[in-house]
Amino acid sequence: MSARILSGKEIAEKIKQDVKKELEILKEKGIKPKLVAVQVGENPSSRVYLNAQKKSCEAMGIEHEVKNVNQDTTENELIQFIHTLNNDSSITGIILQLPLPQGIDVRKVQSNIAVEKDVEGVNPANLGWIVYGRPLLAPCTALAVKELIDSTGVDLYGKEVVMVGHSDIVGKPVSMLLVDKFATVSICHIGTSEKGMLETHVRMAEILIVAVGKAHLIKGDWVKEGSIVIDVGINKLGDKIVGDVEFDIAKERAWWITPVPGGVGPVTTAILLRNTIIAAKMLNRQ
Ligand code: NAD
Repeated sequence: MSARILSGKEIAEKIKQDVKKELEILKEKGIKPKLVAVQVGENPSSRVYLNAQKKSCEAMGIEHEVKNVNQDTTENELIQFIHTLNNDSSITGIILQLPLPQGIDVRKVQSNIAVEKDVEGVNPANLGWIVYGRPLLAPCTALAVKELIDSTGVDLYGKEVVMVGHSDIVGKPVSMLLVDKFATVSICHIGTSEKGMLETHVRMAEILIVAVGKAHLIKGDWVKEGSIVIDVGINKLGDKIVGDVEFDIAKERAWWITPVPGGVGPVTTAILLRNTIIAAKMLNRQ
């Protein structure tokens, strides 16, 4: 039986409708969310992403500004700049565009973004709140994965979840969010693969989430019958964009599966808008 396609576009649309309503309420109270994205130096792929980000904010009525910082900036100067944004009361959300030039400690700069303006959930304090089971501003992609799983109506209690990838903004926070719902979460990574154990873990997964960035790393016939598959990976293969899972074969086995593109991506974008509203509310004690 062919799986149901878990379309991120529909879920994103629902989130955006809610954001719109919240925005109206805030505007009635004189609160205007404003997002600032900090771009250090030039990066053509960042530019494309930032333009898309600006478009989705402005379509919603959220002000969006890109602040360009010189490529030669020092870590201290960048931190000082972040502080000026923290102290500017007209700005309610800050995004630090990656990558940063070599020699700048990304984590150190991220830790200087005001916790209540950290719409991407990258400040260690916001990541820490996830560990406490009280996510405030969590990383957008991690929340998108949770949102997609929840949309299937599955009960996470006791479910065998396999998270492939242990990045700070996807694999680790997703695992924390799901373990708090009493799922049994195994986290796999390069070490699992190199020990030849990846297939064994994947075959057990009732819910499989993959965030690696290697086209078709997960063979379709490893996917457990009746499982939920969330593919976070974005890879270029020839002239196509594909995920980390062999979609065509996996879709014949899974119960639900996200497409790439059109799965996690659009939900991540919508969650950024939702986080922007949450940040504006927190700052204004709403
Ligand atoms: P990352 O690049 O920081 O880490 C990669 C992870 O994969 C690590 O845990 C590493 O150990 C693991 N890994 C590498 N090779 C492996 C192998 N052969 N077997 C098993 N594990 C292996 O990860 P990231 O920043 O979370 O990004 C992962 C992918 O998700 C990328 O393709 C990225 O573009 C995509 N992504 C998509 C969205 C979205 O909104 N759709 C958002 C963020 C990231």
